[in-house]
Amino acid sequence: MDNYYTCVFSQARYSDQQREKQIPEFIIENKKKCQFFFLPKYPIIQLEEQLVLKDGNEISKDLFICPICQDLMTSVLQCEYCSNICCFNCWEKLISSNRPKCFFCRHYGITIKKLHNNLFYKKIFDQLMFKCCNQDCNLMFPYDHYYYHCCNKCEHRLLSCGLCNQTLKYSKIETHVDECLKVDGKCSYCNKKMDRVSFINNHHDKICPKFKLNL
Ligand SMILES: [Zn+2]
Ligand SMILES: [Zn+2]
Ligand SMILES: [Zn+2]
Ligand SMILES: [Zn+2]
Ligand SMILES: [Zn+2]
Repeated sequence: MDNYYTCVFSQARYSDQQREKQIPEFIIENKKKCQFFFLPKYPIIQLEEQLVLKDGNEISKDLFICPICQDLMTSVLQCEYCSNICCFNCWEKLISSNRPKCFFCRHYGITIKKLHNNLFYKKIFDQLMFKCCNQDCNLMFPYDHYYYHCCNKCEHRLLSCGLCNQTLKYSKIETHVDECLKVDGKCSYCNKKMDRVSFINNHHDKICPKFKLNL
């Protein structure tokens, strides 16, 4: 046996089934007006044991690990006196320290002029391809295009909605407005303006003056 409801405004009678169809909808009037601010996460290169070159050949990761800080050497400089190499960042810290002694040969008085680009490393480094850091993206890029892709181009990059702070993929941005709890819209029955979460939690069939059905 169906339950019947009467609308307190129109006195119309609805069955359970009809009542379902009468539930007010949340309407976003102008989707373009919704303000979203997207904050890219800073990408971190995940290194495999073997690094891949443009031509498909592989090279051991260890060649490009800085002997001092153990990070990837994106810029390699060598000492004029002993020809040992480490990354630019480590040399920079050494030079600005009180006792700028070479890490390797202990020569005192290392300045930027006593350091030289290692062209062999630079040549290979420019050939290296790094896999995009974003989950589900398998594209690879040379270092100088890497960050631009990860932060600005990748379909899989993670962003956060400026309204609800939810983290989402770039590819979901277009449809996020249809789910965002903080987006502004209005009730299709009474036209009252509110955000989606207020509509779902409080408005709906509880508060809306045009949707009061009595059993
Ligand atoms: Zn280093
Ligand atoms: Zn040295
Ligand atoms: Zn990507
Ligand atoms: Zn949102
Ligand atoms: Zn309403």
